[in-house]
Amino acid sequence: MLNAFEPRVVLQEVPGEVSLAWLVTGCPLACPGCHSRDSWNPQAGSPLTGERLQGWLERYRVLLTCVLFFGGEWDREALLALLRQVRRQGLKTCLYTGRERLGRSLLAELDYLKTGPWRAELGGLDSRDTNQRLICLSTGESLNHIFWRRS
Ligand code: SF4
Repeated sequence: MLNAFEPRVVLQEVPGEVSLAWLVTGCPLACPGCHSRDSWNPQAGSPLTGERLQGWLERYRVLLTCVLFFGGEWDREALLALLRQVRRQGLKTCLYTGRERLGRSLLAELDYLKTGPWRAELGGLDSRDTNQRLICLSTGESLNHIFWRRS
């Protein structure tokens, strides 16, 4: 079971999508300079059950086009169940992971994927030097350039 903080509706993290964003707790990567250290504790937040997800999807259904998970890949089966639940309702899915690669089963349930740990000296998606990549998985296109225009 994954835990998460209360979600937010976000407009910029996945270009062209209105996303319900969940910060999943328990990230094991411990990147130096992480802006979300309060999320490292896997007991922080509250259980991200299918029922909890569904309640938020119904609350914002007319607005949303996508659901974004910041982390959760460390419990693959739990995340897969949530991704499938989202897709069954015709919404797109996105994962922001600090890992460089992801297994095939998770990739199959995602429309967008951001990879790479936080490296302060390289910056985030708005930096042309970043090690991180945001990819549209249906086309294979990198979406990083959209963030360069914003910076
Ligand atoms: S992957 Fe993200 S949440 Fe995890 S430690 Fe690194 S910056 Fe923090």
